Amino acid sequence: PASTGPLLEVRGATKRFGGLTAVDGADLTVERGSITALIGPNGSGKTTLFNLITGTMAADAGTITFDGKRIEKLPPWSRGHLGLGRTFQVTRLFKDMTVLQNVVAPQPDGKLRTMLADAVSGSEAARARELLDIVGLGSFEQQKAGALSYGQQKLVELAQVLMLEPQLILLDEPAGGVNPSLLGRLTEVIRELNRSGITFLIVEHNIPLVLDLCDPVHVFARGACIASGPPGQIRNDPVVLDAYLGD
Ligand code: ADP
Repeated sequence: PASTGPLLEVRGATKRFGGLTAVDGADLTVERGSITALIGPNGSGKTTLFNLITGTMAADAGTITFDGKRIEKLPPWSRGHLGLGRTFQVTRLFKDMTVLQNVVAPQPDGKLRTMLADAVSGSEAARARELLDIVGLGSFEQQKAGALSYGQQKLVELAQVLMLEPQLILLDEPAGGVNPSLLGRLTEVIRELNRSGITFLIVEHNIPLVLDLCDPVHVFARGACIASGPPGQIRNDPVVLDAYLGD
């Protein structure tokens, strides 16, 4: 690694929408090698914070340091180039393209390929197949993405992000809308990728899943972090229970 500090460090991040301060001086640290969770009530600013970290939205204030480099002024594709990957709450696959074509679609500059048949090299296709095997979808590579279940599409999106060899992957509600029978596979895939060296920051509403998979857990309320700790501590924290029940 280029630096020995935390992989991601957000300090004082602020984002306003008109009169609403969605993210209000938020601090967040993600240690190398962790599966870190970000939980909190609806509207507490979690997705907006993700957008500030990936550069989809510009922050009004604050600093974001990734792998020792300040990134808050860089465009999203440039952050991706440094090793920051993300998936979205709602999948963004091309439903009429095959699973394999979808996995090779993103390019390092953040643009998507349009002329797939010509553009994909043999080694890229081989890498994409390897990743589809890792997420358990090797036998689906020639299917149209739109024919897969929603949970399977989320796994395709994960393979797509992995093509860019990220150090950190931000997952926005990975379990949302996923069939319970696929949830076990999803958590196993995340654990396996984590063991292979990838750090995760996960926004997720399925609290039992978060408490099982993630450590530490950061709790957001009204645009800032109100509690952080290992899952066993967060589970019993009265401040956390109050933030969830009080809204
Ligand atoms: P969470 O992900 O925790 O549910 P969000 O980050 O989506 O929270 O939203 C935080 C607040 O910011 C909410 O009040 C939401 O309505 C508002 N918000 C989010 N995105 C926008 C936007 N593009 N324009 C205006 N308000 C927004």
